[in-house]
Amino acid sequence: MSHAPQSPPAEVAPGIHRLTGGASNFYLVEQSGGLTLVDAGTPGDWKLFLRSLDTLGRRLDDLDAVVLTHAHPDHVGFAERARREGPTSVWVHRDDAAVAQGAKLGKGDASLARYLARTEFYRTFISLIRGKATKIIPVVQVSTFADYEVLDVPGKPRAVHAPGHTPGNAALYFEDRLAVISGDTLITHNPLTGRPGPQVMPLPRSAPWRTSTRR
Ligand SMILES: [Zn+2]
Repeated sequence: MSHAPQSPPAEVAPGIHRLTGGASNFYLVEQSGGLTLVDAGTPGDWKLFLRSLDTLGRRLDDLDAVVLTHAHPDHVGFAERARREGPTSVWVHRDDAAVAQGAKLGKGDASLARYLARTEFYRTFISLIRGKATKIIPVVQVSTFADYEVLDVPGKPRAVHAPGHTPGNAALYFEDRLAVISGDTLITHNPLTGRPGPQVMPLPRSAPWRTSTRR
């Protein structure tokens, strides 16, 4: 999650550019002419994405792959549109594939009620509604990966399966740049309480640890 205002892409590691429309962070990764998008923001971030490509001197045709850290609406975002309009494959851990393709999202394991008095909760909720990220736009065709697999896409990320936030939640390790994109595995700002600093996502958006699927 992110509450940074909409801003131009920021290079946070060599060839890794962070984009945000205010609801969630997503990343463009460059490697020798090719591009991988890690997560696809919210559906409403499509124009921001095209503008960011332009700023980097790239085109939609350069986008080889979208890799999803997990199947939540504010990360699946415009992935289907990128798949349809670009020469783009969409990747997701096999335990989140069904949800990315439109199966019903599992229920969170705790009530949101105790957060209702927090203004931060409303800020998060409003930015999700503004980005049209209240439900997943199904990705018609996905490629799946398993734990510890190195994906054959620009940047060659290694998937590290970290179930909890969702069953197929994964962090991506870019070994050649010593960079990890953690998705919602580790966040730097609590979207419900506003507490800053590295922390795990609070319970209401996390699925129970019922799947011990490290393979
Ligand atoms: Zn999430």
